[in-house]
Amino acid sequence: MPSGAFSKPSKGGPTLGPVGDGPLAGKVIVVDPGHNGAFNPAYHNARVSSAIGGTKCMESGTESDEKPAFGEHELNWQVSQFVVTRLLAEGATVILTRPDDEGVGPCNPERAEIANRAGADFFLSVHGDGERLGRNGIADPQGFHVQIEKRIVGGAALYDRSLAAAENMIRQLTAMTEEPLSNYVPRQPPGIWQRTGELAVLAGLETTPGVLVEVGNMKNPANLARLKDPATQDALAAAMVAAIEDTLLKPEFQTPTSKPTPTPTATPSGSASASPSASESPTATASTPGETP
Ligand SMILES: [Zn+2]
Repeated sequence: MPSGAFSKPSKGGPTLGPVGDGPLAGKVIVVDPGHNGAFNPAYHNARVSSAIGGTKCMESGTESDEKPAFGEHELNWQVSQFVVTRLLAEGATVILTRPDDEGVGPCNPERAEIANRAGADFFLSVHGDGERLGRNGIADPQGFHVQIEKRIVGGAALYDRSLAAAENMIRQLTAMTEEPLSNYVPRQPPGIWQRTGELAVLAGLETTPGVLVEVGNMKNPANLARLKDPATQDALAAAMVAAIEDTLLKPEFQTPTSKPTPTPTATPSGSASASPSASESPTATASTPGETP
């Protein structure tokens, strides 16, 4: 894997050729380790255009409460390494959206364009969440969830494919890891948060189904300890790769089983503005003190 810091924003990461001749031979998968290794406020906070209008280039991402903190970008990078290794072994070609975990990669909208230019078969954005303990009355928030974007350039058909992919992610993460489904993102279908005009990293996709997986909650010490364990990281990766295979290779898993909801689902508390982890998501409109150095 290439490494090395770069001072200017990169145009993206490398394209990696397959290592094996597996079921994903001929498929091109974009893996997006969320956020960037370095944080340049002027660059990251700049407004950029996107499929959902003007948006911040990129959030800093969350981090653990440890001293020194473990950054979300690093977790995303580590998990993505396992994903890439498995994809290449399955025969896929992989395009990374950033080349290392030290420099500054492309803004969120550009990451979708990387997939568009390649005519990629799948877009996977890997993130960790930063849900505070006790927020919304949940003492022990933990577990994975998946986000998708309703206002996707590819339209209703691509939204359906992305929803099916999200369902595959939830099913395989449940089956193949010891991790729990999120207990603080009670969405419909379970574990799937359907955003509307909020995720610039997915909204620009034209023909590539895309999901954003929040692999767990870094603010929860027990969840964090598991997330830092390479065995957990590889299990998460194996599940996500299995879900990609389901989405691309198995017709029975290529359409959503859950009825797409035409409008954003309300939270049980009835307050859309109190959306869990909205402050963490890559293009969330709300910002939280501490998220941005
Ligand atoms: Zn993130």
